[in-house]
Amino acid sequence: MVADHTQLMTPIQRLGDWDNNCLWVKREDFIPFSFGGNKARKAQLFFLEIDAGKHDAVVTYGSSSSNHCRVVANMAAQRGIGCYIISPEEASEETFNTNLMRLFRAEITVCPVEKVSATIDAVCNTLRGRGMNPYFIPGGGHGNTGTQAYVDCYEEIEAFEKQQSIRFDYIFLASGTGTTHAGLVCGQLIRCDDRKIVGISIARRNPRGRDVVLESIRQYLMAKGGCFDDATIEDATVFLDDYIGEGYGRYLDSVGKTVDIVMKKYGIPLDATYTGKAFWGMADYIEKNDIRDKNILFIHTGGTPLFFDYLKSKER
Ligand SMILES: *Cc1c(COP(=O)(O)O)cnc(C)c1O
Repeated sequence: MVADHTQLMTPIQRLGDWDNNCLWVKREDFIPFSFGGNKARKAQLFFLEIDAGKHDAVVTYGSSSSNHCRVVANMAAQRGIGCYIISPEEASEETFNTNLMRLFRAEITVCPVEKVSATIDAVCNTLRGRGMNPYFIPGGGHGNTGTQAYVDCYEEIEAFEKQQSIRFDYIFLASGTGTTHAGLVCGQLIRCDDRKIVGISIARRNPRGRDVVLESIRQYLMAKGGCFDDATIEDATVFLDDYIGEGYGRYLDSVGKTVDIVMKKYGIPLDATYTGKAFWGMADYIEKNDIRDKNILFIHTGGTPLFFDYLKSKER
């Protein structure tokens, strides 16, 4: 029997004054499995399906720095089932997440990005040919299961607000493949809450980046039988692509500075690929839009091993 963490709530911590607002952070990096993070929250739900379906192998997709692949490889190793990762050669620089995947004995197949889909099919077919029953998790834990994880997270936020008699006017988060963002927006739409959720893109540009989030929202709401008009969904989906820098895994000085400041000031590790960009984007957005006297919640989506990659990169 594998420990079930799905019932545990992550803490919401009050950091205090930030640019005339009160800043709070939801510590998804504290999910008690494999350094936590949003990928741990999503993977827990995928593994409920894997356990229920008696699958004996997991196939997934992600770069060498993927937090998703680390967590999935750890959960597979915990169960003693095989983990097969398809990884694009365009993003194959070794990171601590790669080291961890190796520790979990995940089998990594590297291929050009345009061959990813064919390679996934080939790996799944090979496993089936050996009489195995593989389960495929989309990259980043994409799909309704991943979205559900962040609808659940939204409900935790609401429960906290009720308990503490406060209300968050803004929620900021790093948006990548989009299901974390989509789940939070779905939670908001289902509850008809009036607040602003701001997704800060870590790689994708508009309009595509936002379209992917919208697609996930519509897909989830459709599956749940919810009925929302498209204008409401569009209004609720704010996706900023101003803080990407040079793209996935690359970062500007301002991101590095943000990581340093947040570590010094609060003792909270961010990383240069995801949370550092989002925190920088949040700070800049607050300043540029002259936001004041609000309660602001930052979702710390995890990625702790990447903090150490960032530290190492500073030595060079
Ligand atoms: C994957 C990831 C994100 C982005 O989440 P998506 O659901 O893919 O948008 C943000 N932060 C960290 C630390 C991540 O690993």
